Amino acid sequence: MEEKGRSKFSVLKILKQAQKNDLRYKDGRILGSMCTSPHEFAKEVFSMFLESNLGDAGLFQGTEVLEKDSIKMIAHLQGLDWSHGQIVTGGTEANILALWAARNKTGRQKVIAPETAHFSFEKACNLLGLEIVRVKTDRDKRASIIEMEAEADEKTCALVGVAGTTEYGTVDDIEALSNITVEHGIHLHVDAAFGGFVLPFLKELGYSTSYSPDGADSLTVDPHKMGFVPVPCGCVLFKDEATIEMVETKAPYLTKKRQHTIVGTRTGASAASAFAILKLLGREGYRTIVKECMENTFYLYKGISELGIPVRKPTINILAFDGGSKTLEVLTKKGWRLSTTRKGEIRIVVMPHVTKTVIEEFLLDLQETSKL
Ligand code: PLP
Repeated sequence: MEEKGRSKFSVLKILKQAQKNDLRYKDGRILGSMCTSPHEFAKEVFSMFLESNLGDAGLFQGTEVLEKDSIKMIAHLQGLDWSHGQIVTGGTEANILALWAARNKTGRQKVIAPETAHFSFEKACNLLGLEIVRVKTDRDKRASIIEMEAEADEKTCALVGVAGTTEYGTVDDIEALSNITVEHGIHLHVDAAFGGFVLPFLKELGYSTSYSPDGADSLTVDPHKMGFVPVPCGCVLFKDEATIEMVETKAPYLTKKRQHTIVGTRTGASAASAFAILKLLGREGYRTIVKECMENTFYLYKGISELGIPVRKPTINILAFDGGSKTLEVLTKKGWRLSTTRKGEIRIVVMPHVTKTVIEEFLLDLQETSKL
């Protein structure tokens, strides 16, 4: 650290220089991210609440109400009539909290998750001293119910289902998973970190995928993905209030004497901006965004198919296709920022910044690349 402070101008110069090396969603080159530019209003609200610390919620009771209300709105969007939970830093923290609660509730050590479940479950199990058993998916990349059932036993604390898998966007059969967990007294956690702001609209938009997470004991939904809320903002929901108590820690010297999150001091700006955007957009606003993302996804799907490249039919706004490593390399050189599945397929998340124009430019480059 320097002895003497600099002028704001001088510091800004450094910051702007650093920011030049960052990519921006609005430039349309980022095709592999599950985040996008937050809503302009969310940025305003976020800066309004910078002081607010929900780790000491007794001092910020207004923000605490906004947190509770956002959780209720997120739960309502999922079609749930239970809304106990927390606004957290994202999907990872939500998944860790859910498995932490499941472990303490059941006193068991084994977690069964489909191979498509996000790597945050490895983090969670590592931290919590749990054993994770990864189970095969079927041809449609959905958790194999037969395999999940075969693994479920009296040592199992949690089964994980995913509603909108990170790599393929597929949705596990939550009802079937719920039947298994009820039979064995296992906690069912559903990870809808991405899907939670997409799936609730698909039926009404004319797509066949149904979504009903009511059979879950806990659910992850991330407003900082398709919810347009700035990072960091996740949400974990629990069916029974008593399950949250499984992760309770006493906070003797604070204004609220109990905490139910991993982080202690935590920003209230996330909860306030989630509240603001949920209220501002309403179901209608989100549905319009999802409609466009889904239409663009199918436009891209059609374009890739027409190039003769095998591509999986999308469930939500995530596409994976087998382009080969050379294609990935060339497209990256052309400036596209793609991601890959664990199997090496090229994976595209059709976020709102991935517009029809961006898709058309991408398809032209893909066509050129596939001729090489
Ligand atoms: N769950 C799913 C399905 C995800 O796709 C992701 C991130 O991509 C996560 C959990 C982890 O979320 P975060 O990166 O917000 O911790």
